[in-house]
Amino acid sequence: MHNESAEGEAYFVCDFCLNTWSDDRPMVEGHRGSLVCAHCLSIAFSELVHLRSGSPVKPGETCVLCLEPDRPGLHWRSPVRDEAIACVRCIKQSAGVLHKDPDYAWTKPAPIGESDGSDDD
Ligand SMILES: [Zn+2]
Ligand SMILES: [Zn+2]
Repeated sequence: MHNESAEGEAYFVCDFCLNTWSDDRPMVEGHRGSLVCAHCLSIAFSELVHLRSGSPVKPGETCVLCLEPDRPGLHWRSPVRDEAIACVRCIKQSAGVLHKDPDYAWTKPAPIGESDGSDDD
C-alpha cells in the first residue's frame, strides 16, 4: 500500500508487515498498489512452497496482490494484518521478480534443512 501522507521511501508500505521500503527491504508491487516486502516474501515463500502450510481463507477474502476471488491453492496470511492474504501464485511470481532483480541481493529461501545456518536474523 502507499502512505499518501509520506514521501520518499516511507511512501511505500508493505501490505503484510506495515514496514516501509528500505535498502534491505525491497518490495514487489501487486495490483492496485499493493506491496509485499522481501522479508514477508521470504516467510511466505518458505511456508507456502517449502512447508506447504497455508492459512484457511474465509469466504469472500481475496489475495491482496492479484485481487482474484476464490483462487485455489494455498494462501499466506499476514501476521499483523488479518485481512491481508497472498496466494501461492503471487508469492512465487513476486519471489521470481525479486530473485532476478540485479539491484537486490535477495534470493528465494532455500528449503528447510538446506540452509547454511547463517540466517539467524
Ligand atoms: Zn512485509
Ligand atoms: Zn494472488
